[in-house]
Amino acid sequence: MASPLPAQESEVRHAAVERMIEHDLRGRGIRDQRVLDAMRRVPRARFVPPELAARAYEDRPLPIGHGQTISQPYVVAWMTESLQLRGDEKVLEIGTGSGYQAAVLAELGVQVYSIEIVEALALRARQLLNTLPYANVFLRTGDGYRGWPEAAPFDAILLTAAPGRIPQPLRDQLAVGGRMVLPLGEQDDRGQTMLRILRTQDGFTEQRLGSVRFVPMTGEVQTSP
Ligand code: SAH
Repeated sequence: MASPLPAQESEVRHAAVERMIEHDLRGRGIRDQRVLDAMRRVPRARFVPPELAARAYEDRPLPIGHGQTISQPYVVAWMTESLQLRGDEKVLEIGTGSGYQAAVLAELGVQVYSIEIVEALALRARQLLNTLPYANVFLRTGDGYRGWPEAAPFDAILLTAAPGRIPQPLRDQLAVGGRMVLPLGEQDDRGQTMLRILRTQDGFTEQRLGSVRFVPMTGEVQTSP
């Protein structure tokens, strides 16, 4: 088949985005209209390697280099919805990766603080996000284990890589009333559990949201006792 003309190309992309929104997100239970609108607006094709751009709106994770992946759209929507955001909060993300999840959060209007441990990915995400009109995204290169103390407390914290246990500094940086959503568990046959931790006046409560498979959180969480 001949490659589409530019006008057809944008129609093809429009159709792919609508299919993602209606079939893969709303169709699988995403209800928060603001999350659906944010995901309609973020150009996911720009966050995947150019040779995979045609597949950007398929509901699957894609490789972004350095052994890492951009999560599938459904999982991004599900985690974002699970944070229960209104749009005026401060949110910490551990694992910037491609920057896609950070862009979806930025579209919701929240202040986004995101940390990436792989320098090359952090650099690429920074360059890409600089070309998009988000003034509310702050990026840092390094190990997210210690969080971002100067910007704490956070109303929501999101981990997009799975630790074997929850880093204490991240618990400490969660505001009372705040939510932390993370895939917890080692990368083994039993997989990982998506958890939502709520911080209350007296401590923390935990909800299991489902089974997932994420790349491991690296750095201090793997080496400290
Ligand atoms: N949110 C990303 C998904 C990236 S996959 C996106 O939308 O594309 C998880 C990312 O977490 C990877 O880029 C990985 O390098 C990063 N990561 C793993 N351990 C980390 C740590 N300790 N601190 C910060 N980032 C980490």
